[in-house]
Amino acid sequence: MGDTLSPRQRDRYSRQLLIDSVGEPEQRMLLSSRVLVAGAGGLGSAVIQSLAAAGVGTIGIVDDGEVKRSNLQRQVIHTVDDIGKPKVESAARYVEALNPEVTVETHLERLQLEGAAALVEPYDVVIDALDNFRARFVGNDVARLAGIPFVHGAVYGFEGQMMAFRPGGPCYRCLLPELPDAGAIPSGEPMGIFPPVPLTIGCLQAMEALKHVLDLDEVLDDELLRYDATDVTFTRTPLEVDPDCPVCGSDSVDSATALEYDERCRIVV
Ligand SMILES: [Zn+2]
Repeated sequence: MGDTLSPRQRDRYSRQLLIDSVGEPEQRMLLSSRVLVAGAGGLGSAVIQSLAAAGVGTIGIVDDGEVKRSNLQRQVIHTVDDIGKPKVESAARYVEALNPEVTVETHLERLQLEGAAALVEPYDVVIDALDNFRARFVGNDVARLAGIPFVHGAVYGFEGQMMAFRPGGPCYRCLLPELPDAGAIPSGEPMGIFPPVPLTIGCLQAMEALKHVLDLDEVLDDELLRYDATDVTFTRTPLEVDPDCPVCGSDSVDSATALEYDERCRIVV
């Protein structure tokens, strides 16, 4: 990539280049950035769409699932023709069609402790577009230990939440230290989700990730943002570092190779 945008890039990104905080240097920052999206479902669809359109240079996508017909009411980057095919492949096709200058790195695998540190390490930001707690703990832990922001999102029914966990602030384990009791918090499939909710939360996650890449000062910092579509409310709740947190507290583990979980996803020291 050169020091200046090509005429085609100036045209493609012209509407965002008109914004004061997004000039050509900032667009080049986007074009050289690397963002890992964990999960290519409903949240991931909105995230991948926004990142690709904005011109993030490299989007990594990790997901081991295949497209099902029941995914299509919210996972809008996949189509009827993709049913039965790996989501990472249809996601990559979507990005290629939308913005061919974006490089997509597909990881057809489940985000799990083994291999996660190496998977996450080459990226600037990790986006949690996952639908299960175990993978979310893995993503949080390895991203934090690598010093990489972890932008969390979750949805259920008409409700969603998001938070950008940045090094120096609280992490996901400060919010939820261990696996909740079965049934205490809804997770995975089948779970009712109304289509605009993951798309809304995913766009908010993409926005915070893009602001990190652009090194903008005004970010959603150390606050959990909750969205309730029923009464159209957004609430922000401050979250502090839990001093006993095994990942970011005062006596935390210092390396992803030291991570080991028990059956409740607590870190075994
Ligand atoms: Zn923590």
